[in-house]
Amino acid sequence: MENSSEKRFIPVTSIASGKLQSASADVHYFTVQIVNVCFIGVPGEGNDWVLIDAGMPRSKEKVAEEAEALFGKNNPPKAILLTHGHFDHVGALRELAEEWQVEVYAHERELPFLTGADDYPEPDPTVDGGLLAKSAAIYPNEGIDLGARVHPLPMDGSVPHLADWKWFHTPGHTQGHVSFFRESDRMLIAGDAFVTVKQESLYKVVTQKKEISGPPRYLTTNWEAARSSVELLQRLQPNIAVTGHGKSMAGKELTEGLQMLVKEFAAIAVPEHGRYLNKQKDQ
Ligand SMILES: [Zn+2]
Ligand SMILES: [Zn+2]
Repeated sequence: MENSSEKRFIPVTSIASGKLQSASADVHYFTVQIVNVCFIGVPGEGNDWVLIDAGMPRSKEKVAEEAEALFGKNNPPKAILLTHGHFDHVGALRELAEEWQVEVYAHERELPFLTGADDYPEPDPTVDGGLLAKSAAIYPNEGIDLGARVHPLPMDGSVPHLADWKWFHTPGHTQGHVSFFRESDRMLIAGDAFVTVKQESLYKVVTQKKEISGPPRYLTTNWEAARSSVELLQRLQPNIAVTGHGKSMAGKELTEGLQMLVKEFAAIAVPEHGRYLNKQKDQ
């Protein structure tokens, strides 16, 4: 059963759309309109790899083509991992998982939105922050149904098929949001726990102006949890971060940006008004 989270084309894009960029020798990210999908693995014919997140609705061909260019023909990923299940991170997920015949992993608290049991709260177009936030009313919030293909991430923090990575529960943006971290080079895949482009500003999204920012406001439902999650990620002291939206950030810019975000979380991240501000959902 398809629903609008998978079908509806969302008419927003950015100058990075269609570009593949590298954060390290084995971490590449590809921008689909406004959202990043990550390829983890050293490029090369037949090499093992894993996909993190699955793009906007109707982006299956583009993601599959890019995967083939990196890892060769008939070389599907070992698994697809999700930071969370919002429409812009699962748009091509069912089609890709089906074509590749691979298993999908997400936090167990995200599973209701991936097995058809529940829908996300509606996006909040009343949060302050510009045109894109206002147009959030058109964003689908329906969960998708992956059936038996989706599994909870292992409770011990290990990441299937990525031996040197760990996952961290970083809720707030969604209840089962996770980030992935590799100690050896302090590489962080942060999903939407924080992002490097101010997602509420259409101008900044289109031009991809780099600026560390809290989780996208119109879909974030628990701001206290979101703050704790950013604090946790800062304590990991990442050296490079690839976020769900925007360009990767590294070194001093990242360290100082995260410090600033933690210190000024209320001013930088939290909207002044919005329907999820006072009514904290049970997460
Ligand atoms: Zn999201
Ligand atoms: Zn997102």
